[in-house]
Amino acid sequence: MNEENLKQIDAAIRDVNDFPKPGIVFKDITPVLGDGELFRLTTDSFADTLNGESISKVIGIDARGFIFGAALADRIGAGFVPVRKKGKLPWETTGVAYSLEYGEAHVEIHKDAIKPGERVILVDDLLATGGTAGAAIKLVKELGGEIVCMSFLIELAFLEGRKNLDSDVRVEALLTY
Ligand code: AMP
Repeated sequence: MNEENLKQIDAAIRDVNDFPKPGIVFKDITPVLGDGELFRLTTDSFADTLNGESISKVIGIDARGFIFGAALADRIGAGFVPVRKKGKLPWETTGVAYSLEYGEAHVEIHKDAIKPGERVILVDDLLATGGTAGAAIKLVKELGGEIVCMSFLIELAFLEGRKNLDSDVRVEALLTY
């Protein structure tokens, strides 16, 4: 991992107070996406989290995981699979519900998106409570995928999201707050 690159990416992430509701400090990654050099460095850094391991698919989580996940898939010559919010995928799906701070959410994946034994990486922009990532891991395991690692651009460590993720999954975060 190139620390100098990570410092540059870190400096571009914008904290937005009280969005989308009072008390939340939203980590806005759009300045990273809007800068071609930083976006490329971020994709480089995601690729580094694989430690040279080969994989056949990148699993991106709705919605910002699609952006980083698709860029990574293109970079390493892997396929891309979306994990989407309920009701968005057109083919046969399997889904899982999980708890949010208030209420419930539900994510889905196409049943034929991953073959048993296929080696995959899961990608999202941010690990908060780990509810979303935990649900995505469940879906990939249900389809028989072998998770090489789950990588985030940002981890909000004070929320202890890793506690909600399976201990047998290697979790990597490029930046930790
Ligand atoms: P969680 O399921 O609690 O780990 O929440 C993770 C999802 O919510 C990620 O996909 C993020 O995109 C989004 N999210 C949660 N908290 C924040 C935050 N403070 N800033 C930006 N995005 C967030």
